[in-house]
Amino acid sequence: MHKNRIYNFNAGPAALPETVLEEIRESFLNFDGSGMSITEISHRSKWFDDVINDAVARTKRLLKLDEHFHVLFIQGGASMQFCMIPMNFLADGKSADYVDTGTWSSKAIHEARLQDKPIQVIASSKEENYSCIPENLQFNADARYVHLTSNNTIKGTQWADFPDTGGIPLVSDMSSDIMSRPLDTDKFGFIYAGAQKNIGPAGICMAIIRDDMLENIPDNLPSMLKYTTYTAKNSMYNTPPCFSIYTVQLVLKWLEETIGGLDKMEAINQEKSDILYNFFDSGDFYRGTAKLSDRSKMNVTFRLPDEELEKTFVALAMEEGLGGLKGHRSVGGCRASIYNATTLSAVKALVDFMKTFERQNG
Ligand SMILES: *Cc1c(COP(=O)(O)O)cnc(C)c1O
Repeated sequence: MHKNRIYNFNAGPAALPETVLEEIRESFLNFDGSGMSITEISHRSKWFDDVINDAVARTKRLLKLDEHFHVLFIQGGASMQFCMIPMNFLADGKSADYVDTGTWSSKAIHEARLQDKPIQVIASSKEENYSCIPENLQFNADARYVHLTSNNTIKGTQWADFPDTGGIPLVSDMSSDIMSRPLDTDKFGFIYAGAQKNIGPAGICMAIIRDDMLENIPDNLPSMLKYTTYTAKNSMYNTPPCFSIYTVQLVLKWLEETIGGLDKMEAINQEKSDILYNFFDSGDFYRGTAKLSDRSKMNVTFRLPDEELEKTFVALAMEEGLGGLKGHRSVGGCRASIYNATTLSAVKALVDFMKTFERQNG
């Protein structure tokens, strides 16, 4: 690790692979022999075409997407998708099922309701303070899609497996766990992810859409809010955030060539999260907040015996070069976000710090 850099446990924007940052630095003044920076070249140039096409190709290879899927880049973050999804997929009074597992699902539900779409919340873990994933889901047979948040960044829960919907396409917000594990993509009609958690900087949302989801999109939607605009123009109807897409491309290259794909990535993520959860479970000073079977491998949420100690813990950790451990402002407590780019050594350094802190304050 470079000196002056910290172990970064931020929830988002979050850590990027250090080698990717170095590659950006190397190429920043003169991209690919162009004599220009990636932030200065035309998005209509061959240079940028190569970047976006490579990002798309790598996404397809990593997720083993078949020819029915399109990979798009859309601005407005994951939050823009909360409104675009019902706008595009729920024409003609069609309904959809939503599963409520926390803040981000609730926002997706809110945006669909703002448009008066007849959606149904078929399950919620609100009563359990969102500490788990609902079980035994019952789907409405006429639902156009089932929306769920694959990983709940704030509460630290994650779908370990995806439900069998009987053929209704799953639509999933994967902002905080995309590319962290292999996916059985057959079940999905639409996947989206704000890049700033696991695959790049803020400024871009990756969207993966299956052919059949493009049917019946209303013609009269605003061009920028219509998926067919993006499929028709390779995500370049207007000027895309070239720098963000370039960084995503480099992260995907790192995933393929340095890590060796999503099976490998999943094994590393499993090891990292096991280290933390096994440590919590070996004592009673640190207490995980999520139900055991639904624990997230990306966002590890935990409490200390009291709030004063939590404050001291976060502050002292920062002094030791371990940043971003404060829980989301809406829930308090502590959270270590251990996305793909957070290294095993970062996690080991965190556990060492936690042991020392416990000895001194337990
Ligand atoms: C961070 C996050 C969002 C919001 O992403 P923006 O790009 O800021 O809109 C949505 N969903 C999940 C699961 C997130 O983690």
